[in-house]
Amino acid sequence: MNLSRDEIIDLLNSEGEAAARLFERAAAVRDKTIGNGIYLRGLIEYSNLCVKNCLYCGIRRDAECERYTLTRGQVLAAAEHAWRERFGSVVLQGGENRLSAYIADIERLVKDIKTLSRGELGITLSLGEQSLDTYRRWFAAGAHRYLLRIETSNRALFERIHPAEDGEFDTRLQALHDLRAAGYQVGTGVMIGLPGQTVEDLADDLLFMRALDIDMCGMGPYIPSAGTPLAAQAVWPAERRMNLTLNMIAVLRLLMPDINIAATTALQAIVPDGRLRAVAAGANVIMPNLTPDALRKNYSLYDNKPLSFDTKILEANIRYGEWGDSKHFFKND
Ligand code: SAH
Ligand code: SF4
Repeated sequence: MNLSRDEIIDLLNSEGEAAARLFERAAAVRDKTIGNGIYLRGLIEYSNLCVKNCLYCGIRRDAECERYTLTRGQVLAAAEHAWRERFGSVVLQGGENRLSAYIADIERLVKDIKTLSRGELGITLSLGEQSLDTYRRWFAAGAHRYLLRIETSNRALFERIHPAEDGEFDTRLQALHDLRAAGYQVGTGVMIGLPGQTVEDLADDLLFMRALDIDMCGMGPYIPSAGTPLAAQAVWPAERRMNLTLNMIAVLRLLMPDINIAATTALQAIVPDGRLRAVAAGANVIMPNLTPDALRKNYSLYDNKPLSFDTKILEANIRYGEWGDSKHFFKND
């Protein structure tokens, strides 16, 4: 559906009854275009070591948290669990690291996950900015989707929340293009309610995603993480950040009916049924956490991060054992 920037801004400002109508409309567009199935990706939080110092993130380089990297055995056990439970796919996510040993470890893990699941598990990676060569190696090993959020499409805001020495906005954009060139289904997304962000910025984020012709999207509310530089800055109340996230999901569904949109964990840090509300607003992907229990608390991107999700309530709609690829990716236009 084509919407002008002003129409998008109006829709993003929907409240109460108007918001409820927007969600119904978005869910109906999803159901009609790609069906009402919900696809699972078991989330394996590989490591909280990170070379970057993003000003908002609880596992940034300077954060004083207990660091861990999962062993090969732990990753493969989590993947095997996902395969036995017929999750369809796993996501390997972690802080950024570009050492050659690390790149080789990931390559091997991707191959091993493919082998142990007899090629049945789909593999999404979310391991930050890497070289085109690395993206290609991991794709050749068997990964076929990649999530790299632009975080905000407003260049000035991006520069305020990322230290200059960690790389520029243009480097991030280039990485998204490289992912496409390497053959991945490409996912991006933004945080909603960053200090200084406006509803106009959010409308531009949606137009950015459409212009980039993304296949998948994961976006969630910004949640201050105690001890990070950004946490000291004022933000909209949590309820507004959550409602705007739901509106963003719904408007994106109207703009890009056949992409995959995740109901992200951060929504559930604000209200217990946050992810269910996202599904009702047009999302079609859920990423239940499969990181070993004892380590989940250390992957503390933000405060109050939920450690689990009960899929039972969505049982009727979950499509077990299916990859649930982005329909958009296979469209020939
Ligand atoms: N290092 C990789 C993947 C891990 S971080 C990367 O940055 O791409 C995954 C996502 O967590 C980030 O893209 C960011 O949008 C989100 N995140 C980090 N800190 C957050 C916070 N304080 N509130 C909400 N989301 C946050
Ligand atoms: Fe590292 Fe990602 Fe956190 Fe930035 S958002 S500090 S890259 S884990």
